[in-house]
Amino acid sequence: MKINLAKSSGFCFGVRKAITIALENAKSRKPIFMLGDIVHNEEVVKQIQKAGIKKINRLGKGAEKTLLIRAHGCSKKTLQKALKSGYTIIDATCPMVKEIHKIASRLEKAGYRIIIIGDKLHDEVQGIAGQLKSKAVIIDGLKNMPIGEIKKIRRAGVVVQSTQNLDNVLKILKVLRKYIPHVEFHNTICNPTRLKQNEVKAMPEENDVMIIIGSKTSANTKRIYEISKPLNKNSYWIDSAEKIEKGWLKNAKKIGITAGASTPQATINEVIQKIKVIPS
Ligand code: SF4
Repeated sequence: MKINLAKSSGFCFGVRKAITIALENAKSRKPIFMLGDIVHNEEVVKQIQKAGIKKINRLGKGAEKTLLIRAHGCSKKTLQKALKSGYTIIDATCPMVKEIHKIASRLEKAGYRIIIIGDKLHDEVQGIAGQLKSKAVIIDGLKNMPIGEIKKIRRAGVVVQSTQNLDNVLKILKVLRKYIPHVEFHNTICNPTRLKQNEVKAMPEENDVMIIIGSKTSANTKRIYEISKPLNKNSYWIDSAEKIEKGWLKNAKKIGITAGASTPQATINEVIQKIKVIPS
């Protein structure tokens, strides 16, 4: 049995940077709080909490406290509220996400109505929408497009959640262009996501089984799985080695493995070790 591990599997630079910032600050400053999960992976969150950073779901009184802003970023309102409450801010927002904030704000200032293609409830999308003065139109799929609202827009500035699937985005864009006379499109899917998605377009056909590792809350892992599954029905999305079922690997000669941007190397290694001892 041959195991083929995707070159792009595991942490992207944005996640790695956010974890490094968190752990370095945990050594020198206390107390530190993170609003929600720093990245969408339970093991990483546990590691950060073990280092002494507490997770909170809402802001409290911030005097003499430090607030860590997660890799997905946050809205302007949250940031202002945190500062007003007295928190010292450590910003671990990924530079690629900050870039989307800048583009969306610039387009809004130039008079465009902002459309965000992304998962409505995802922190990153909420953070992008939260940079704007006016309400953004958020589109999460071809099926849910608010056509009535779209028809009223004359000039649209379109940005994309960093982990979206480009093929889906282009389909949505085509519909937008049909109804909106002027569309300024910025493909803000980040490079690590593009690399991961490109690799997973080839791997399912080159392998008998595809194992995709990442938390069930990870948007980028979900996209990888969504690309892989139609190309190879033996595609499985797991969050840990324990979830592997022996039957999946029966008669398989080549196993392709990839992992989302917030999946730790330790989890990937555990999966590889487990596969190696399962008889095919
Ligand atoms: S997936 Fe992309 S945008 Fe998100 S943290 Fe990683 S590099 Fe940044």
